[in-house]
Amino acid sequence: LTENRMYQQNEKSPLQVFVRAKKKINDIYGEIEEYVHETTQFINALHSDAEIVDKAERELFESYVYKVAAIREVLQRDHMKVAFFGRTSNGKSSVINAMLREKILPSGIGHTTNCFCQVEGNDGGEAYLMKEGSDEKLNVVNIKQLANALCQEKLSESSLVRIFWPRERCSLLRDDVVFVDSPGVDVSANLDDWIDNHCLNADVFVLVLNAESTMTRAEKQFFHTVSQKLSKPNIFILNNRWDASANEPEFQESVKSQHTERCIDFLTKELKVSNEKEAAERVFFVSARETLQARLEEAKGNPPHLGAIADGFQIRYFEFQDFERKFEECISQSAVKTKFQQHSSRGKSVSGDMRSMLDNIYERITIFRNLKQDQKNLLTERIQGTETQMMQVTREMKMKIHNMVEEVEEKVSKALNE
Ligand code: GDP
Repeated sequence: LTENRMYQQNEKSPLQVFVRAKKKINDIYGEIEEYVHETTQFINALHSDAEIVDKAERELFESYVYKVAAIREVLQRDHMKVAFFGRTSNGKSSVINAMLREKILPSGIGHTTNCFCQVEGNDGGEAYLMKEGSDEKLNVVNIKQLANALCQEKLSESSLVRIFWPRERCSLLRDDVVFVDSPGVDVSANLDDWIDNHCLNADVFVLVLNAESTMTRAEKQFFHTVSQKLSKPNIFILNNRWDASANEPEFQESVKSQHTERCIDFLTKELKVSNEKEAAERVFFVSARETLQARLEEAKGNPPHLGAIADGFQIRYFEFQDFERKFEECISQSAVKTKFQQHSSRGKSVSGDMRSMLDNIYERITIFRNLKQDQKNLLTERIQGTETQMMQVTREMKMKIHNMVEEVEEKVSKALNE
């Protein structure tokens, strides 16, 4: 029953827009690949039988096979990527763990992430990590071991450790979301390298702030650089550690409205990446540590409030869920647009090129046939037999070429419109 419910919830998730689009475009490219193969065989046969197709044309056609195969490979690896930034100890790792509903990334004192950590789904049931520049799969049995591995390694701050986690343990990983945790923006001087190496293909950025203090210059500077390199990046702001505000309920509302105003101004007036309405929907007040605790309780079959740290748990918990929903909608739409639009138009141009080449070939076949027709009267019955055969093959070819190309074009156009 639980599994069934999880499945139904999953079906309703906004991430499914990406999951379905990915499946569809992969299927279409699978068909395009079949057509290209089939057509190449056909062209090769024409080349050896009659001199209708020349060598250069045949080679050009073969190049489509490689082009389509390369696009298919990229497509299969496409995912949605979210990257987390903020000062050390603001709770970046805790936010990721809360979203994954499991303590995967080490967090807390002494476990400062000193390099980039990427968590992604893995189809096999095992958990392992891989360091940059190595194919070796290092087994991870538990979080403690992972923390030690990350701390002991002498890793440069802009290097990347990839953590592969069993997909079936988390619905976000199952739906192809990849999480990137970063070292604190306060420790790095290499913001440019960071952005070039880890951020250019991120669909969403999450700035994790400490609600107990104000946004720092380092945090602002980082996002200024991001928005110079990327046009209109999607940025969410989490004012984390909001549980601390429960200690001073008399100031809670005024602190909240002050933070909200500053965050909205930052997104709209400083970075100019959002309008007022959108920015207002991208600023949240949460407690990552509490959300994670609540979810760990839920996994044990207990009510979530057992994970509460302070008064007002329910509001903060809802706000975290609200953030997740808006985040899922945003990342899914953005990834479909940026990742698949390009592939769809390339698919369209490949099928368009194929069509015009095949149309040319068809024209040449028709001229060839007419020539034969003129010679008909002069030829013997034996040759007439060959002629009839030739006519038939030509008719079949015409049908085949047109059906093939029309089908590819129609499918790609349909996918583009959807
Ligand atoms: P990072 O360096 O930004 O990845 O921060 P961590 O996730 O490692 O968190 C640093 C410390 O803050 C850890 O001890 C967390 O348990 C704690 N922490 C994180 N989020 C919260 C929160 O919302 N409330 C409270 N009270 N503590 C938090």
